[in-house]
Amino acid sequence: MPYLHTPIEALSGVGPTRKAAYNKMGVYTVEDLLYHFPRAYEHRGDIRALAESRDETYKMGKARMATLLTVSTEPRVTRVKGRMTLLKFRAFDESGSCDITFFNQEFLRNTFSVGGVFRFYGRVEAAGKDRYTMTAPAFEPFVESRPLPPLYAVYPLTEGISNKMLTDHVRQSLPATGMVEDPLPESIRAAEGLCTLGYALRQIHAPEDFQSLHIAKRRLAFDEFFRFALGLGTAGRSAQVTGAPVCSVSDAVMGEFLRALPYALTGAQSRALADLRRDLASDTAMNRMIVGDVGCGKTVCAAAAMYIAVKAGRQAALMAPTGILATQHAADLLPLFERLGIRGALLTGHTPAAQKRKIYAALAAEDPTKRLDVVIGTQALLSEGVTFAAPGLVVTDEQHRFGVNQRATLSEKNQNAHLLVMSATPIPRTLALVMYGDLEVSRIDEMPPGRQRVDTFVVDESYRARLDAFIRKNVEAGGQVYVVCPAVEEAEEEDAALIPLSANFGGEQTAVAVVETQAPPPMKAAVQYAAELQERLPDLKVAFVHGKMKPTEKDKVMTAFAAGDIQVLVSTTVIEVGVNVPNACLMLVENAERFGLSQLHQLRGRVGRGSRKSYCVLIRNGGGDTAKARLEVMRTTYDGYAIAEKDLVQRGPGDFLAPADGAGIRQSGGFRLAESWSDAELMNHAFGHAREMLTDDPELKEYPELKRTVEKMYAKAGNILN
Ligand code: ADP
Ligand code: MG
Repeated sequence: MPYLHTPIEALSGVGPTRKAAYNKMGVYTVEDLLYHFPRAYEHRGDIRALAESRDETYKMGKARMATLLTVSTEPRVTRVKGRMTLLKFRAFDESGSCDITFFNQEFLRNTFSVGGVFRFYGRVEAAGKDRYTMTAPAFEPFVESRPLPPLYAVYPLTEGISNKMLTDHVRQSLPATGMVEDPLPESIRAAEGLCTLGYALRQIHAPEDFQSLHIAKRRLAFDEFFRFALGLGTAGRSAQVTGAPVCSVSDAVMGEFLRALPYALTGAQSRALADLRRDLASDTAMNRMIVGDVGCGKTVCAAAAMYIAVKAGRQAALMAPTGILATQHAADLLPLFERLGIRGALLTGHTPAAQKRKIYAALAAEDPTKRLDVVIGTQALLSEGVTFAAPGLVVTDEQHRFGVNQRATLSEKNQNAHLLVMSATPIPRTLALVMYGDLEVSRIDEMPPGRQRVDTFVVDESYRARLDAFIRKNVEAGGQVYVVCPAVEEAEEEDAALIPLSANFGGEQTAVAVVETQAPPPMKAAVQYAAELQERLPDLKVAFVHGKMKPTEKDKVMTAFAAGDIQVLVSTTVIEVGVNVPNACLMLVENAERFGLSQLHQLRGRVGRGSRKSYCVLIRNGGGDTAKARLEVMRTTYDGYAIAEKDLVQRGPGDFLAPADGAGIRQSGGFRLAESWSDAELMNHAFGHAREMLTDDPELKEYPELKRTVEKMYAKAGNILN
């Protein structure tokens, strides 16, 4: 009898090789396996007559289907090509007969005897009038008194583990769910009408019906929200820190900074600056976030805060999530600081070792005349060598892209420092509350003067030729073009009859809707796309970047694009993070239906940053009317917050919790169910319970089992980051 903590290799059929394969997927124990949720389900309960294979959905074996057939001939085994054997027999239903073939499975000879009834699941192909064939279908013996389960789990796999194997190992593990200690307090479970954890884990793998699966998903989604909120609460939240350096400057000194700028601050920027000045002048550490749409001018506000800290005799650090962003910040800010007599340096992973040592020493210098006042960098700022002689202010850009662990490291390094976060993602209020709990917010809701609106269009494949011409036109006018493709995942070719885990099993429509689901349209991979585009537009300079490239290569391409040496940049969403190329004037998004609205809004913000008239073209390659309506929002709405609220309701919180290219909990599988759970109410309740629990017991001392599962969720995310 397996327990949750039983190692995976204790299951029968798991030897050293399979153990290694499981470990590769992050599965070490029976518990890990139980949390390795299916990605989809085969709807084997949806039994169809053989003749229906001629219908649109199943035609030519395009999709697998379930049949209930009676065996009518004894299996015959023939030997072909030396060692290969074929086992063949015939079976029938009221609509026709089917020749069924298995390879190298002679032992099945005794399974299929004449008169036996089986549920077969596989691709049915036509072989003449009323005649069909199936090759190596899945099969289960049908017993009148014992109904077969309607849904059969399909798992994410890795090399060396088949779905059948994994299913078998899960079946062996399911008894362990009978003994799981439910870490959720009974009072919360009852208040939210949630099923027990044991039930949820059993039903997610082997659902009795749609309704049970819906109930299980609801419980597990709640758990993910709850653990996520608890984790942020325990790891990221610091009590009010006193003993922070008081940094205040006179209006005259502040004026010196403002006069050094080539423009006047907008009203919203001035208000944010007033917030910052007030916070920095207190010995309670500042904990503030500046939020505002891309291009609204957050950086200069952060720079002003850094200036104040330095003028008050302290040091300031600015951390950006990528090398290119850090470099861009350094290029913008270091000359400005220099004019103001402030010494600064750039520190990234590419900084040569000797240079690094110099910077380390200058940051730690006790003598203020030899000290570096400002450092701008990447996660390299978190490395051990970095110590500040007089820490004053730490700024992070696009904060939510950093893992919680990194946030913690950074605050530890700068014990009493003031903290400032810049975020361009308008985060719906409910989410901001849990993600940034104690952060105060300054909102910049006004664009610098002269900003233009980016005209947005939604088109389909029929516009292809015109799009190419439009790219050329923009480039010939001296502009630059971004083309964004979704990151291509493996196993994209999906069976139309599979029901994804993300489907809504609570709705009555599920069963019908499934069959109507179209296989997803082919995805355009960045590399191949760039090659094809280059072929069609041979005289343009086309290049690509994608998430799997080495950071150095990525930076090289981005830098060339920023310098204007590349005219068309094809990429996956890596450019989503705030790179500034004012000359870019056209943003094309392929498979736009696959992106969250907030992501699209971010992408759109990459253009229209200079004087050129700019456009955003969203290309829809499928997704039906829902996608069309969703994308229509982009054409008519330019307010990031309005878009974010719509996105939260339509797509669930996944995009906000860990945006597309961000590492962390999403990639580690921590949001398998929360991601597609679009019921914001469940999320709000989970967050509410988490806040309440943390108020009473900030370290979860009374809930050791809960604490363990929270730590596990975050540890996995941490592994992905490192
Ligand atoms: P984001 O908020 O997206 O980080 P940035 O700080 O990069 O935006 O600012 C975008 C651009 O706007 C920069 O080129 C910056 O110099 C410019 N900018 C910022 N504030 C103003 C202003 N008040 N007037 C004119 N231009 C400004
Ligand atoms: Mg920015």
